[in-house]
Amino acid sequence: MKRTKIVATIGPASEGKKVLAEMIKKGMNVARLNFSHGDFDSHKKAIKLIRKISENLEIPIGIMADLQGPRIRVSNDQEFSVTKKEIIQVVEFPLPGKENTIKKMIVRGVGKIVGKNKPKILKLDLKGVVRFAKVGSDILIEDGLIRIRVLAKKKNGLRAEVMDGGMIKPRKGVNIPGISGRLGAITEFDKKVLDFALAEDVDFVAMSFVRTAEEINYLKGLIKRKSKRKNGLAQVVAKIERKEAIKNLDKILGAADAVMVARGDLGIEMPQADLPILQKEIVAKCLRAGKPVIVATQMLDSMIRNPRPTRAEVTDVSNAVIDHADALMLSGETANGKYPVESVQTMTEIIRRTEKSPFDDLGHGFLGDRTSSVSAAVAQSAHELLKDSRAKAIVVASVSGFTARMITRHRPEQKIFVMTNNEKTQNQLALVWGARSFVLPDCKDLDELIDKSMETIKKNKLLKKKDRVVIVAGRPHINKEHMSLVKVEEVK
Ligand code: PEP
Repeated sequence: MKRTKIVATIGPASEGKKVLAEMIKKGMNVARLNFSHGDFDSHKKAIKLIRKISENLEIPIGIMADLQGPRIRVSNDQEFSVTKKEIIQVVEFPLPGKENTIKKMIVRGVGKIVGKNKPKILKLDLKGVVRFAKVGSDILIEDGLIRIRVLAKKKNGLRAEVMDGGMIKPRKGVNIPGISGRLGAITEFDKKVLDFALAEDVDFVAMSFVRTAEEINYLKGLIKRKSKRKNGLAQVVAKIERKEAIKNLDKILGAADAVMVARGDLGIEMPQADLPILQKEIVAKCLRAGKPVIVATQMLDSMIRNPRPTRAEVTDVSNAVIDHADALMLSGETANGKYPVESVQTMTEIIRRTEKSPFDDLGHGFLGDRTSSVSAAVAQSAHELLKDSRAKAIVVASVSGFTARMITRHRPEQKIFVMTNNEKTQNQLALVWGARSFVLPDCKDLDELIDKSMETIKKNKLLKKKDRVVIVAGRPHINKEHMSLVKVEEVK
């Protein structure tokens, strides 16, 4: 089994039953629903299918609803080309159903350009963009492929000059560095998505364009208020893609349940040469904090069109494993590419090959100060014992997944079996490096828990007779995440 997990974005190329089943068989662990695209009906159908296939195949799959946040997109319904030095007009034009507060937008000419040579109109779908943009700001479309500079602000929009031309396509993402920090992280549309996602009982909610820990706490508050559940709430994934998020990373890490290195927007908001080092720094901090981390965007981008990736992409995937990410993400490759199943399979092959090498092994001292809590100290001892006792696996009893994360952050070479009494935890562990989880019924005491865990190992033929295992559990194991027991046992 590969240990680094795969998050695959679901879209028109992958929402059918057959493709979904194949992607799960080939190594997909978490399905990401990107609410920038698709409608609630198609997302609802996909969720139902994923849950059913996961049950049939007995492979736990986490479901992640990705809130688009103040994501700006092109809202023109036709593509059009622009050329260098061309003067165009930029207006706000929220799409029906996705608008924030604007009900009606009147598109008028900007400045003095009227009549025959009327400028082309670039429509942007987020209210507030025109107000916040500054003269001299660059508007970047499709990851910066097209660049337009604001020349003047007018009552009804912006007058702008094309710096780098190209084809502007509907729904492409737009960045305006400098203004992003002024737009909040949750829009009215996100709140509608959240209502839908929580009614569907998703396992994760990803928050785009996070700036502060307070924003994460605000989303957590909404989840708590809106969920029908009392425990096992959806976890919050902080997408790190803004300068402010890098500045506030430690606090964001404290508040979030997981993190995504959202390289697409991060590579625009920050100098792109900084990106590889930022990736390494974010992953290392997540590991220290025991928070799962996803490396995302363009990992096998050319497989949107081609059956084989480029050499650089293969190396990028392998390097993200070597950086110790918990999970790697596929976006367009599985959402709307020609080769969704092949993309998952290719990623799995690269992960497996890299994990066989010594290069992904965690260097001694990588986690730094490990005395942050009693649980962290016990997990550290359990990991030492795992190596010294030549055990084949570690069995972790975990209610919320916390104990499991404290163990997996050491990236042990041995197998990690997590026993939980909570299906939600099982789905959420789908994102966590190396964790293979099983749901056990509640046990009356630790002895019963150990017996049931060993039975599960035997029933699923996970180990051989006489194989040694290290067991880690809390007391009382089903109520609190406080590790108090570390034990070595043999499979009978
Ligand atoms: C990114 O910017 O890298 C990212 C994952 O965000 P999205 O795909 O939502 O734009």
